[in-house]
Amino acid sequence: MNAAARFEGPGVSPVFRARKLSKTYRMGEVEVHALRDVDLDIIEGEFVVLLGPSGSGKSTLLNILGGLDSPTSGDAQWRDHQLVGAGDAELTRYRREHVGFVFQFYNLIPSLTVLENVQLVTEIADRPLDPLEVLKLVGLERRIDHFPSQLSGGEQQRVAVARAIVKSPDVLLCDEPTGALDYETGKVVLAAIARANEQLGTTTIVITHNAAIAGMADRVLRLGGGRIVGETRNPRRLSAEEVTW
Ligand code: ADP
Ligand code: MG
Repeated sequence: MNAAARFEGPGVSPVFRARKLSKTYRMGEVEVHALRDVDLDIIEGEFVVLLGPSGSGKSTLLNILGGLDSPTSGDAQWRDHQLVGAGDAELTRYRREHVGFVFQFYNLIPSLTVLENVQLVTEIADRPLDPLEVLKLVGLERRIDHFPSQLSGGEQQRVAVARAIVKSPDVLLCDEPTGALDYETGKVVLAAIARANEQLGTTTIVITHNAAIAGMADRVLRLGGGRIVGETRNPRRLSAEEVTW
C-alpha cells in the first residue's frame, strides 16, 4: 500500500492535533507573531516536512509539538494527552518517553565512540532498540568504533539520528538536521531519517531547506508569517533506497 493511501482512510485518528495555535512575542511596543491560528493534524506514521523562510514559525511549531515550548493561545494534543497547559514534569516525561529530537548541531559526546554515544541512551530508555541495528539502519555499521572527530559532518548527524531513534520514540522531530551540511550530504542524512520512518513507522516531522526531502515525505507544509500557507501531498517519488551512503 502506498504511504499516502494509508492516511486517507476513514477513522484514522491523528496522532497530533493542533487547533488555533498562536504564539506572540512582545518586545516592548513590538509584537512578533511567530504562529497565527495554526490548525494541523498529523497521522500516525506520517512523514511531514516543514518548509518556509527564516522566521516563518517552523521551529516554534515543532517545539510546541515536542513539548519544548508553549503557545500563547490555542490547543495541541499528542494522542489523548494535552500538551498545552501540561506541567513541566508531564512534558519532561512526554519528551523522554515519546519524542526523539535531532537538531542542526549534533552534540555528540566527543570522548565516546559512535556505538557508545548511541548505547548511552538505551540505558535510560523504556523499550530501546538494538544500537547496532539502529546504526545499520543509518548506514554506520562500519563506523561504530570511531570517535565523533573521526567522522564527517553527515556521519555525525547520522549518529545523532541513531541516538534519537534508539529509544524507539513515537515521534521524531528534526529541526534543520541538514542546516550545517552541503546538499548531497544532507540528502544522505534525510535518507537515514526516511528509512527510520519507513522501517520503524515513527511519525516524523522534519524542518529543512533541502529540496531533496520533499520527494521523500508524505506531506510538505509551507509556513509563511506564522501560518500554513501551502500543503502538498507527495507520493514518495524519491525512495530512501535510491540514495546511497
Ligand atoms: P523559523 O524556525 O521558521 O526560522 P521561528 O519559529 O524560530 O522561525 O521564529 C518565528 C518568529 O518568532 C521569528 O520572527 C522570530 O524572530 C520570533 N521569535 C522566536 N523566538 C523568539 C523569542 N524567544 N523572542 C522573540 N522572538 C522570537
Ligand atoms: Mg528555526
